[in-house]
Amino acid sequence: MSEKEIEHHKLIIVGSGPAGYTAAIYAARANLHPVMISGFQKGGQLTTTTEIDNFPGFPQGRDGNELMSDMEKQALRFETVIIEDEVTDTDLKSKPFKVETYGKIYTCDALIVSTGATAKYLGLESETKFKGRGVSACATCDGFFFKGKDVAVVGGGDTAVEEAIYLTNFCSKVYLLHRRDELRASKAMQQRAFDNPKVEILWNTEIDEVIGGDTGPMEDLRVVNNKTGEKREIGVKGLFIAVGHKPNTDIFGDQLETDENGYLITEGKSTKTNIEGVFACGDVMDSKYRQAITAAGTGCMAAIDAERWLAEQI
Ligand SMILES: Cc1cc2nc3c(=O)[nH]c(=O)nc-3n(C[C@H](O)[C@H](O)[C@H](O)COP(=O)(O)OP(=O)(O)OC[C@H]3O[C@@H](n4cnc5c(N)ncnc54)[C@H](O)[C@@H]3O)c2cc1C
Repeated sequence: MSEKEIEHHKLIIVGSGPAGYTAAIYAARANLHPVMISGFQKGGQLTTTTEIDNFPGFPQGRDGNELMSDMEKQALRFETVIIEDEVTDTDLKSKPFKVETYGKIYTCDALIVSTGATAKYLGLESETKFKGRGVSACATCDGFFFKGKDVAVVGGGDTAVEEAIYLTNFCSKVYLLHRRDELRASKAMQQRAFDNPKVEILWNTEIDEVIGGDTGPMEDLRVVNNKTGEKREIGVKGLFIAVGHKPNTDIFGDQLETDENGYLITEGKSTKTNIEGVFACGDVMDSKYRQAITAAGTGCMAAIDAERWLAEQI
């Protein structure tokens, strides 16, 4: 860690998504005077989407930026201090914990990690162009918008198959595009896809281009068979990318225990990590649900766990 000004706080929360803000609201109301380091994506993943239809309390749905701005206001109302900086390094081996940002080094008695996860995309220009206009990385979040339409899912693991099957609940047809000639998903999951009449697997198939205008939704998808080179348009109005997520844990090195996919491991039904006094919530510790409401729920748990742990230290 470098020579920078050092500032101590009882509780630091890293990340300003639904998990971080909820942790802040609960911690602030418990009089812990939390300090949040927001990260460069203030508000988290939901700031990249316009329509949130499944966060309870908003019968007409809510714009992602507005929802996160309201969460910020609520955290500020209880006097959470929000620092707009990014954590670049941490030292959790001794207490107080050290958290380095571009501006300062912060030390704290307890730490809540809510740094989220980042969906992996394929990296195609047209895929980026149509993000939020037909291209999505979350079937649970956006599938409903494609009711009665044909869609495609890219990927070959359990998540891709699960998303494809989920989409058959309201889409007319779901193409599962896989670049190889066999899926990586478990045999049981594969069988569910094979047995579902609405799922058609396109083997050895990759995306050539997402088609559409400069404004408005995507209009079609051109795919290419990587064995024959044959290209064709498959008539879908939605494309779900299911090639994995990367939890944002690089700043912890190997200090915090992770599973084989890099998600932080928490103890039992708590948010406790392997280091006493460090708690994890939201998508960074949840490879399964990855929803705003579950992130907020575990954010609440982390604040309560931190409050109780701090109380025991006196
Ligand atoms: C396009 C899109 C649409 C979605 N739609 C829905 C939906 O309709 N409904 C729903 O329930 N869910 C939806 N989701 C999923 C939802 O956004 C996530 O489940 C939720 O945001 C996870 O919250 P989180 O607080 O754990 O993390 P995130 O929202 O990922 O926030 C992580 C925070 O950590 C910060 N951070 C990361 N690294 C650092 C660092 N080194 N230093 C400091 N800060 C750091 C980031 O800046 C960010 O503020 C959608 C996701 C996407 C991408």
